[in-house]
Amino acid sequence: MKVVINGIHANLRFSSAHMIPLHESCGGIHGHSYIVDVTVEGERSGEFGFVVDFKKAKGIVRNICSKLDHKVLIPCKSSVMDFKNNDENSLEFKIENKEYKLPLEDCCLLPLKSTSAEDLAEYFAEEIFKYLKETNNKISSVQICVNEGIGQGAYFHKTAEK
Ligand SMILES: [Zn+2]
Repeated sequence: MKVVINGIHANLRFSSAHMIPLHESCGGIHGHSYIVDVTVEGERSGEFGFVVDFKKAKGIVRNICSKLDHKVLIPCKSSVMDFKNNDENSLEFKIENKEYKLPLEDCCLLPLKSTSAEDLAEYFAEEIFKYLKETNNKISSVQICVNEGIGQGAYFHKTAEK
């Protein structure tokens, strides 16, 4: 059985800044109001016969959203961002001839190659799957759509490894 959580109606949102290095129009720092849609598939289980407890699932998604909210998203595994030795208060990096220095407290460092909607969807799916699996080990997949505003999003389908 599948359960679906609609990010707009369930208020699963975050607003962040990012850039897609070297991209013609997305290479400059800009922002999005992101919305996260969640679908969980699996067998019903436990005392109440839930696939997943909606409240728990929303709590997990909101925790991730609040980590990213009002931050500049930084993909630490980027192959084109040249990070310098940073002190504890700031983050310095170069992208070709563009130099950046940001307060560390304004950044959210993510273990990703990019902060595209595609990479963020994969990140959310992996994280949410990991936490949901702890509450119901009969969950077979988590599907996440990270929407960059209304009308465009990337969809990632995380399936349990057999
Ligand atoms: Zn963007």
